[in-house]
Amino acid sequence: MLQPDSYKEKGARKLLVKELKGKGITDERVLTAIGEVARHQFIHKDFKHLAYHDKAFPIGEGQTISQPYTVAYQTQMLHPEVGDKVLEIGTGSGYQAAILVKLGVELFSIERQPKLYAKTKKLFEDLNLKANLILGDGSLGLPNEAPFDRIIVTAGAPKIPDTLINQLAFGGIMIIPVGNNTHQTMHILIKKPDGSLENISLDQFSFVPLIGSQAW
Ligand code: SAM
Repeated sequence: MLQPDSYKEKGARKLLVKELKGKGITDERVLTAIGEVARHQFIHKDFKHLAYHDKAFPIGEGQTISQPYTVAYQTQMLHPEVGDKVLEIGTGSGYQAAILVKLGVELFSIERQPKLYAKTKKLFEDLNLKANLILGDGSLGLPNEAPFDRIIVTAGAPKIPDTLINQLAFGGIMIIPVGNNTHQTMHILIKKPDGSLENISLDQFSFVPLIGSQAW
């Protein structure tokens, strides 16, 4: 059942936004979205009281809702513009997806776990959030919808899948954690207007593995 959004939760979100600013998140659009999306509605009932702590929590099926800092960091680095066509791999709880929808993008998000897909699809309907949620192997991308202005991968990959590079638009940006199945380095991949690629390594993170035919 949908949990109401009360003054208590709104106040807790304000404190979370302040905490994320202190940790280096500067993009005001991202901070506003974090302040507006009711994270407690995306969290398993056992952890709702901790929803505005800057922590990852289990969401079932051995998966997690990412830490708010990680969501803010990936979103800030992705630089999504209003109207961008964005592909997310790893819908999970839908929290990252909801932040992207708030930022005005046209979102396609893929989840491989049927139970998580079904739960999040229902939640998006209940919250009246408009996104294209898809059940499948996100390591293959979505060839029929490509190219994408932005691609965000929210699970740890062994390497950047060529399938996703090919589906990134000229001038597009991809953010993806790459490493082993417990620790990864965040990478930003920029496809320049002439098609050449710039690959920038950023900070260390710890994501659940990206599992699929172009992944683990
Ligand atoms: N963005 C999510 C959120 O806000 O809750 C983070 C979810 S969790 C860190 C990563 C998700 O990626 C899991 O739900 C997992 O099932 C999913 N996943 C792993 N491999 C995948 C693949 N090949 N295609 C689509 N989803 C995948």
